[in-house]
Amino acid sequence: MAAQAQQSRYHANHVQTTDRVPSEQPLPEVLYIMGTGRSGTTILEILLANNPGFAGVGEVKHIFRDGFIADHVCSCGKPTSGCELWSEVLRRTAWSRQDCARLGDTVQDLESHQHFPLIWANLGAKQAREQYSLAARDLFRSVAAVRQCRVVVDSSKFAGRALLLSQALPERIKVLCITRSAAGLLKAFAKKNEGEQRPKGALAASAYYLYVLLCMRLVKWRLKERCFSIRFEDLNSNPDAVLAAVESWGGYSLGVARARIAASEAFDVGHIVTGNRLRKKGKVNFEPSTSALRRKADNVLAEILAPILETYRRVLGF
Ligand SMILES: [Zn+2]
Repeated sequence: MAAQAQQSRYHANHVQTTDRVPSEQPLPEVLYIMGTGRSGTTILEILLANNPGFAGVGEVKHIFRDGFIADHVCSCGKPTSGCELWSEVLRRTAWSRQDCARLGDTVQDLESHQHFPLIWANLGAKQAREQYSLAARDLFRSVAAVRQCRVVVDSSKFAGRALLLSQALPERIKVLCITRSAAGLLKAFAKKNEGEQRPKGALAASAYYLYVLLCMRLVKWRLKERCFSIRFEDLNSNPDAVLAAVESWGGYSLGVARARIAASEAFDVGHIVTGNRLRKKGKVNFEPSTSALRRKADNVLAEILAPILETYRRVLGF
């Protein structure tokens, strides 16, 4: 009976019937990192999550599919089911396998790039959105309770997720938007043999760049001062200045990360199930570098497209 009741929490008709999960616990602040693929979202999360009061969760939009269903290995080296964070989150939320499959589908569908215009216009899928919001609150509450943190850093990247989370966690969400130069992104997407990160051709990468930057601009417009933009090139060349700017925007204290960068000390990756493959290293070093500023295109088409896209980026205010 209990299992049935719990399961029904995520059925459309019984969204608010039981309150077993940590709904009496305070919601943490969620610092959401929005960006294109290959634009430093995972490393930015790691820098932020290494400060007291913060915890990172990687591209947590995939936790249902990659973690709770497929049991992928977490960056701590254990499968999700044996990870001290994610096994405890699953225990606290009491999500059944069926709940996880359904929530994974809901998240995938609502946050997809093609769904963005509907989310922006606040149209349709009312029941799915209610389930989404309930699950998002349970997930972040549980993470905060297990990690004893005030701020959860989520680097899921998708623009639609920023809007959906701002509805699910009003007043508790801040969004960091990171963009990368078109030349750098085209080059990064051209790289083969990246395993889980599939390459894109210059035209496909350009279309992606045009669309995602436009979506992110719309999010910024909607969320106003709750959304702050940074550039991948600035983060690489002068991380201290970027973190200082994030501190004054968000009211955070990021002194530990800033000191660690200055001393060339390693950062803990934490418990990331889905994200850039650097998560698998367990510890990462962040060395400031200006190489991202000197990125040259590696084919003629990319060479033609990159400056046009870069102008577009500037026009959008990134
Ligand atoms: Zn773990």
